[in-house]
Amino acid sequence: FTDKDVYQQSFNPQEYLREYYRLSDSQGKTKTFLMENLRALAKMFSLEGLRGNTLIDVGCGPTIYQLLSACENFEEIIALDYTDQNRRELEKWLKKEAGAFDWRPVVEYVCELEGDRGKWAEKEEKLRKKVRQVLKCDVTKANPTEPVSLPPGDCIVSTLCLEGACKDLATFRSALRNISALVKPGGHLVMITVLRETYYAFSNQVFSCLRLEKNEVEEAVQDAGFDVRFSEVHPCPHSDIRFDCDAVLSLVARK
Ligand code: SAH
Repeated sequence: FTDKDVYQQSFNPQEYLREYYRLSDSQGKTKTFLMENLRALAKMFSLEGLRGNTLIDVGCGPTIYQLLSACENFEEIIALDYTDQNRRELEKWLKKEAGAFDWRPVVEYVCELEGDRGKWAEKEEKLRKKVRQVLKCDVTKANPTEPVSLPPGDCIVSTLCLEGACKDLATFRSALRNISALVKPGGHLVMITVLRETYYAFSNQVFSCLRLEKNEVEEAVQDAGFDVRFSEVHPCPHSDIRFDCDAVLSLVARK
């Protein structure tokens, strides 16, 4: 099991982005994976009731793709991650610093899904303005943002985080209860989780992944105080040695 200290020591955000998030020239498998997740996010954030003032992104990593559809529906976004270098990498993009990752192809694709590919620059600016805080968090803590106490938000989004951060199903279930406290009653949880994956790799580093079944995720979500409103599985073709997931689960639940 790759625990959070290993993430802090050896997760290289630039390599991660280069390996998995270059839409323009990435290989077929990761490209399909990313595009499917973007489509799922667009669909989930267009469901009724997925709006409000505050959105909290749990385990944001160095990425912004998970916020591109979401940012149209919320006024303020708070991004949380354990790893210093991942929060720093995100801030580089937010502040348009030199060397920041180029998300333009991804943003263009999401704008195309929303009807106008030409609006990419506008969306980038909107998102940059809305992300108000980037804070440290640990999903294994009862208060993940300790010592900071955040007022509960209207929605939490979490993509590809808990299955990497939790060593077993009991920890996964308790992490869901922990992050549930970050959202108001009546608010939503939007999740993208890989199913039956045991590892993912990039730049000679292997990270462990908790092997999850769809029903295990749904039960954990329900037991954390949510009603599942939307749950969709997309198969993930094998044959890429960089990861061994079987499928991706997109899920929306209401607290
Ligand atoms: N959400 C991004 C990043 C996923 S990578 C994406 O969709 O690509 C997994 C992330 O989980 C990493 O950024 C890592 O720093 C974070 N993480 C690992 N253990 C954690 C913990 N205990 N609490 C919070 N985040 C954790």
